[in-house]
Parts: sequence; C-alpha cells; structure tokens
Amino acid sequence: MSSAVLDVESAKSSAIAYLDAAGDSFRETNRAIWSFAEPSLKETRSSALLADLLESHGFTVERGVAGMPTAFVATWGSGDPLIGIMAEYDALPSLSQAATPERQPLVPGGYGHGCGHSVFGTASVFAAIAAKDAAERSGITGRIRCYGCPAEELLVGKVFMQRAGVFDGADIVLGWHPSDKTGADFITSKAMVSVRFTFHGVASHASAVPHRGRSALDAVELMNVGVNYMREHVKQDARIHYVITDGGVQPNVVPPCASVWYYVRADVHRDVVEYFNWVTRIAQGAAMMTQTSVEWSIDTDCHEQIPNRVLADAIDRNLRLVGPPRFTDEDRAFAARIRESLPDAPDGPPLIEEIEQVTAEPKLIKGSTDIGDVSWHLPVGHLRAATQANGCPGHSWQIVACTGTNIGEQGGIVAAKALACTALDLLTDSQLRARAWEDFRQRRGTEPYSLLIPPDQGSPLPS
Ligand SMILES: [Zn+2]
Repeated sequence: MSSAVLDVESAKSSAIAYLDAAGDSFRETNRAIWSFAEPSLKETRSSALLADLLESHGFTVERGVAGMPTAFVATWGSGDPLIGIMAEYDALPSLSQAATPERQPLVPGGYGHGCGHSVFGTASVFAAIAAKDAAERSGITGRIRCYGCPAEELLVGKVFMQRAGVFDGADIVLGWHPSDKTGADFITSKAMVSVRFTFHGVASHASAVPHRGRSALDAVELMNVGVNYMREHVKQDARIHYVITDGGVQPNVVPPCASVWYYVRADVHRDVVEYFNWVTRIAQGAAMMTQTSVEWSIDTDCHEQIPNRVLADAIDRNLRLVGPPRFTDEDRAFAARIRESLPDAPDGPPLIEEIEQVTAEPKLIKGSTDIGDVSWHLPVGHLRAATQANGCPGHSWQIVACTGTNIGEQGGIVAAKALACTALDLLTDSQLRARAWEDFRQRRGTEPYSLLIPPDQGSPLPS
C-alpha cells in the first residue's frame, strides 16, 4: 500500500470522526431548514443558513449566482482538482406536517419538506465541511466546492446554473437524495420540458351574443383532446401531463384568455424535443380551429441523468466503510406507526438498515431531476440514504414527518460521511478521476447538448 493510499484512509477516518462529533449542529441545521420549509426560489433563510455555515468554516461564498438570489457557490482550497458537492433545500406545497406519525399539518395548506431536502442540504454542506477539515489536517490539496442549488422541485436551479457556467471547471460533482434505502446510485432519469400555453380569444355575452366571442377555453380543451390522441403514437416511456391554470372566470363571459401548463417527459431528451414540437403544432391547430391565437413559454428543459459506473463503485466502497444508518428502537417504532398510514407499503422492516448492492445495469427512475443537465457536462456521482420509513411515497407528509426526526438525521449523516470520503478519494486519486471521465465520455457520446429554453430568457425569479 502506498503512503498516498494510507494518507487518504486516515483522512477519511478524520472526516467520519468530524461528522460523528457534529451530530448536534447537524440536527439543529436540519431542524431549522425543515421548519423554514421554504418554496422553490424563495429559500432565502435556508440558503443563507447553509452559506453562512460554509463561510464560518473557511469557505469563500458567492451568493446569488446565475441570477437566482438563493443559489450560491462555496469554495475552499486552491488549484486542481476541483470536486463539487450539490445541496438542495426547497420544500413542497400542501405538505406542511409536524414530526408526528399521524397527519397533522403545522400550517394548513403550507409547505413541508416532502422530498427531504432539509436534510439533503444539511448533509451536503456538512460533507463539504468535513472533507475540507480532513483535507486540511492531512495536507491534501485541491478545491472543494459546495453548490447551493435552489428550486429543484421546479427543475430549474441546476439547469440555469449550468447554463450560466457555474459548474464549469469542476472535475467531478457529487450528489445524493433522501430515500427509504441506502446505496450508491447507478441511475438515469427522464428528460422533461415544462411549458405553459396561453390562448387569446374574444370576450362576449355567452348567451346574448355568443357569435361575437371566441373562446380561449375551447382552444385549451381542443388542444388537450389533440394531445390525448397523440398519446397512442408516442413511445411507451413518454409521459405527458397538464393542468389548466386559467379556464376563464364565470360562464356568462366567453373566456378571452385561458392557459394550460404541460410537462412532457421521455427517457431521452431528443424524444422530448420531438414530442414538444408535436404538442406545439397541436396548440397551433387548436388556435386555428377556434379562431384564437396561442403563445407559449418554457419554464425549464432538463435532460436525462447520465449514470457513472466508476463513481457508483467508488461511492459503494465508501458507503460500506461508513456503514448503514444507525437507527434507535424509538426510530423503528416511529417508522412502524408511519407505515400504518400506508396500506400499500411493501412488506419488510419499518426501516431498511442495510446497504443495497449497486445494480448491474443503470436503473431508470421514473421522475426527472435537474442533476441530469450537470451530468451531460461532467461525471456525476450519486447516492441515496435511508431518511424515511420503508415504503413512503415520494412527496408525502410521511416523508416530512420522518425527515424532521432522528431518522432523517441518521440517514443524512451516512450520506455526509460517504460524500466526504468519496470527495477525499477524488481529490487524491487522479486515476479514479480519469476512469470516471472515461466512463462519462463513453456513455455521454457526442450528441450536442441543446436547450429548448430561448437563449435570451433570463433565470427564473421568485414570483
Ligand atoms: Zn427531491
């Protein structure tokens, strides 16, 4: 064993010890962000808390990057390599919930961390701090950078950060996500475009002079019918869903304005582009049929995630070094009660307390993530850690409840340790970085990266 290898192993022990000792501060940070429960792009207190924490530990922080007030970049060190860790911290509407195993909103209709992003942001920031502390003690050089990524729930944060060049120059970027399981991810996700169509017609008295009106709502309805017929002729992996966000005001006025918001998804971005173009033609057809006009605007356009086998294996090794989350009997009892509210939960223990094997083939998650856009530009390593009861559905009050307890924090600490250890490996092992890049180049291919978002469209701002 070379001395470099010995050094990194002792640096990893130091990072793990640092995180073991940071339990109280880790808990306080998670609980604070959990109780802020801020909406996408409005994560003001959450992002300030995390950025301040990094700054107080010697990171240089740039706030409001890529034109988004709650996006930040925090960097420690100098020179190469540059290893990144991504943090997210936005909450979800209608999921306000106390840390109790029964449904109990804290704020009726309010926001809650139904995707577990309070512990996501906390663990990523603590991982960066622990890796920095260990690197400093061990004389490991290079840079560690924590990316504060807002508005993942709208799939905009990293798309616009990447477009602004925020990830340029990084060698490898790491991320994780709260889950009911622990393991290194070898995954891909669906590409997706989010687009809002607005039709303009002519208002008139719906009974006295309907012939003088042109209904924008009719256009929305005909567009939706058209898209629903289109469904038969798209690939099985496509997903198209919509909500009517403006359908007029009252029935005796022919609606002069109506809007519908679409998500179009598929396993690969080129299919999303094809279906998006088809949907816009249907919208134009609906406008023609109803003698109205139509315009559309794109909120975001994200790509499928490109998996990385080399990084999955490196993360897997570190997860096994760290070990699975250490839950208490109280945690298990809490999770068992959570599961009583989930009649369709899979059989098994209340909490999954083992590390899963890395899958042989990339696993497709059926949702979308803006990590995809980062993964089209450089190798991204990813993991999941058990922060919730076995079988919790995504975006649920049960996840909010678990994330606000020791369950969330035990899973989060495991994620932080594995991220810190993998960052230390990547800082010190140029061969590992080279192999990760080779795997990236092979899977990425040569397809140009393109966005449906108009180049002159600015980053989204809080509404
Ligand atoms: Zn999430």
